[in-house]
Amino acid sequence: MSEVLVVVDHVDGAIRKPTLELLAIAKRLGEPAAVFFGGSDKAGEVAEKLKAFGAEKIYVVDDAEIKGYLVAPKAEALQQLVEKASPAAVLFVSGYEGKEVAARLAIKIESGLITDAVDVEADGGAPVTTQSVFAGNYTVKAKVTKGTPIITVKPNSTSPVEEAGAGTVEEFSATISDAAKTAQIVAQQPRKASGRPELTEAAIVVSGGRGTGGNFEPIEGLADALGAAVGASRAAVDSGWMPHTFQVGQTGKTVSPQLYVANGISGAIQHRAGMQTSKTIVAVNKDDEAPIFELVDFGVVGDLHSVLPAATEKINERKN
Ligand code: FAD
Repeated sequence: MSEVLVVVDHVDGAIRKPTLELLAIAKRLGEPAAVFFGGSDKAGEVAEKLKAFGAEKIYVVDDAEIKGYLVAPKAEALQQLVEKASPAAVLFVSGYEGKEVAARLAIKIESGLITDAVDVEADGGAPVTTQSVFAGNYTVKAKVTKGTPIITVKPNSTSPVEEAGAGTVEEFSATISDAAKTAQIVAQQPRKASGRPELTEAAIVVSGGRGTGGNFEPIEGLADALGAAVGASRAAVDSGWMPHTFQVGQTGKTVSPQLYVANGISGAIQHRAGMQTSKTIVAVNKDDEAPIFELVDFGVVGDLHSVLPAATEKINERKN
């Protein structure tokens, strides 16, 4: 069985959950082989975790010549690894960096690229992906017809499977050209931690719209009770109530959580575009004719300022 490379998304060795989801997808397609860019000090711990979630092999790529630069060195290293390992596919997490490295790799190895898949199945030969396109109005099945399939997969497309693989660690050293090192990182500052999960990766998202009237406390209270990320409609962002990084929709972020709770959001097409692939959708809106109710699994007609605190209280009671 051929290897399926999974490029590990991590911060200082802390593996993000979407990588574990990719390992579950890789298992459907062949032998999961993770690719970790990082120092050897973190490699042992990282390898243990990847192994626990099904990695048969872990390629540790020393990032000494990679980490101080933007994406080009990573694409170059992956090109060399693909040439050596001849994998059946290469999977990335759909994020800004993942998509850019994937695109550069696809050009280098003259392979087809599919971005933002929400599912990947094995269909005998090449993997078949599912994408949700045109503001979620069409579902498209696609496969790569040239070269090694390169696929970026959205977070929450599947659940991680805790089933140990062989976890063989193999060091891989790449040769990075000077041309790949022309865009250097001169400073970086981590975003202040909110204590909540990242919006695009969260399993649960609680969003607020114009109906909040600018008071996001009930939204944040429910989000914290559920361990969820906070999102917002463009109306809430344009009003200056929340930063743009919280916006869900066509011109904001696309989320696909297990549970999306829309509060005081009417359900405009541009908002739906960013959330309608969520597995379960719940809405709280005081207008029983709000379009959001057309796509919900569960709807509450009521004032969010009373419904949400009541729900939060009950959830906290159950948790204790
Ligand atoms: P509204 O449409 O004003 O809805 C507010 C809702 O709150 C209403 O349904 C109302 O009944 C309800 N409500 C009021 N008070 C309460 C209460 N106390 N309790 C419960 N419910 C209450 N929008 C996005 O969200 N994301 C995007 O990325 C995006 N991109 C866009 C791109 C383009 C090119 C364009 C033209 C528009 C875009 N929009 C986007 C804007 C979009 O068309 C809508 O205007 C926006 O989504 C509306 O936000 P809203 O639902 O919060 O506000």
